Amino acid sequence: ENLRDWNISRQIVWGIRIPAWFCEKCSNWTITEGKTPEKCSKCDSKSLRQDSDTFDTWFSSGQWPVIALMSNSKSKMGKKGSSDFGKFYPTSVMETAYDILKAWVTRMVMLGIYLTGDVPFKQVLFHGIVNDPYGKKMSKSKGNVVNPLELIVQYGADSVRFALIYGNATGNDQSLSYAKLEGARKFTNKLWNIARFINMKQETLNSKSEIRNNLTIEQLKNETINKLDKEWVGKIGELVPEITRYLDSYQFNLAAERLYEFIWHEFADKYIENVKGRIDKDSFLVLSSLFLVQLKLLHPFMPFVTEEINEQLSLEKKMLIISDWPES
Ligand SMILES: [Zn+2]
Repeated sequence: ENLRDWNISRQIVWGIRIPAWFCEKCSNWTITEGKTPEKCSKCDSKSLRQDSDTFDTWFSSGQWPVIALMSNSKSKMGKKGSSDFGKFYPTSVMETAYDILKAWVTRMVMLGIYLTGDVPFKQVLFHGIVNDPYGKKMSKSKGNVVNPLELIVQYGADSVRFALIYGNATGNDQSLSYAKLEGARKFTNKLWNIARFINMKQETLNSKSEIRNNLTIEQLKNETINKLDKEWVGKIGELVPEITRYLDSYQFNLAAERLYEFIWHEFADKYIENVKGRIDKDSFLVLSSLFLVQLKLLHPFMPFVTEEINEQLSLEKKMLIISDWPES
């Protein structure tokens, strides 16, 4: 009820120009779907001048869910088929910051229904805003903006992503924390240390050909002889549904925190310490298989590092991004 008419034209250069042409001769406006008209629709004069206004950016971006999927196909709007539009519209989740709910999300819903008769997405997930380390909103005028690209150079892209997810409930604002960035960087190092250990054992046991990536946790449990190895297969068997549940319910921070704790303080500190002195080919199969499962669980948060480690150790032949999510 607080809605008012929306003026969709703007007097700025950056934007999509409004497809309306003024006739110098008869003052008629010729309007098209975007194509430049040859002549005035009323008097056939060719002296036309396109309006210099552009569309409000939210009017353009509000049509994004429809237009982006239509751009590559010949199918008509609203027609279902094998096109991207037919397959992905409406999409499952729209993820954005909460501060553009009114400006963007409501417009996408409104224009999506107008153009296709259907909503553009089924669920909307809002993330919070990253403030400066003192909790103040970053702004150019205050000069407290931290450039994420510089953080990525310093800490690595995966560490930055992990630090932003860790310890912050989905949807809440957060203050940028250098301690968390540092912690995430150390966690990345830990992953590499585990990888190096496995690589070392791979070579001493000459187990390269022994790595079988297609074992489910259930199969692994059945094939494992050592009691302690079996126990750890069981632990991973419980970890998988737990992480899956967190991700399905968008509790990304809980998933990241659990993985951090488990991989570092359980798997590395306890299991690897235990297996170090007694490793044989059977235990190596468990060690490498369980590490692969953890890499897969971590992949949504740390896609580059996990992919690189997997490739170097050749645990899973496929890239992780197209490999199956682990089953418990
Ligand atoms: Zn005219």
